[in-house]
This record gives sequence, structure tokens and C-alpha cells, in this order.
Amino acid sequence: MTIDFRHVPPPAPDHPHLPLVRVPAAGNWLIALTCWELLQTGTHFVGRRTVPHLKERCPGCKVGKPVRYEAYASGVRSSDKKHLIIALTPTAARDLFEALPNPNQLRGHIVTFTRHGKQSNGTLRITTEGSMLSHDRLPPAPDLLAHMLDIWGLDASHLGTDHQGYAHDVARELDPTSTPDAS
Ligand SMILES: [Zn+2]
Repeated sequence: MTIDFRHVPPPAPDHPHLPLVRVPAAGNWLIALTCWELLQTGTHFVGRRTVPHLKERCPGCKVGKPVRYEAYASGVRSSDKKHLIIALTPTAARDLFEALPNPNQLRGHIVTFTRHGKQSNGTLRITTEGSMLSHDRLPPAPDLLAHMLDIWGLDASHLGTDHQGYAHDVARELDPTSTPDAS
């Protein structure tokens, strides 16, 4: 039994994920999209955070939390040039699909995200600015799926075709009292 002490800072993660943000109440962000397309999934709001909805043995479903669909897009915020992943409500995601004719060609489009009202869960709307940035002025398109797995403390091995491992590990993370099953 040994301990590996060193006189240097801990190593950085191999692929640090982009910050996941939500447009604040009364927020108005001008964003240059960097992803080619949206990513969308079901989530639950459990323990004051948003966690993924699982296809099997979902802890959020188990405690009766409704499934809320969320979509994610990446972009550079004009005000501070930060590259972010922005959580979109279903309404905002549909706005984007209606405004941009090719839903897998989002990259480079400049859009405004506006949170109406004084509540952090006020209606989020998206309007397009009718202009684009050339791709070489943007950071590379991130792998949104990989980033979301990382944000949720999961890895690609959790995305087997049957999702068993994915469900199992997330269930254990969210509910420490659950015991691993034998299967
Ligand atoms: Zn669920």
C-alpha cells in the first residue's frame, strides 16, 4: 500500500468540458453558435440539479419527478467571448428549428437568446440575427454528447446499445443507498 505524493498541481482533465449555463432572468445574450446541431434529452430536476432521465430504473422517475425535455447548443457569447453550452427549453429549441432552415447546419449562425420576465424559469425565446460568422472565426464544434456525459459524471462506456450500464451507474450515483444488482 503506497501513496503517490507529488509537489506539483494535479493533472488537468483530458477533455475539460465547456460550462453549461442557463440564460438568467431578463437575460439577453447574443450568441454565435458553434455546434452543427442540437442535442436533446429528457431530464429530471432532483436535489436542486438537473439530471438525465434514464430508460431503465430511473431514479428521477422513481421519486415521481416529471420528465422535462431539455436541449443543448454550444456557442460563443458576444459580451465576453466565452464558449458555452446553453440549456434550451423545448420552446426555445423549437424556435431555433423554425428560424434556421437546416437544423444540422446551426454552426456560424448568430442568434439572440432572451429570457422574458423576472423569473429564472421565465420563457426563453430565440431570434436569429440573419447573419453568420465564417467557421474559421469560431472555435471547433464541440462534441456535445461527450460534454454532457462529462458534466453528468458519465463516460461513453455508459452508452451501450441496451443502456444497462448507463442506467445502473447513474442510479448508483444519484441514490447512494441503492445496492448494485447481480445482473
Ligand atoms: Zn426518469
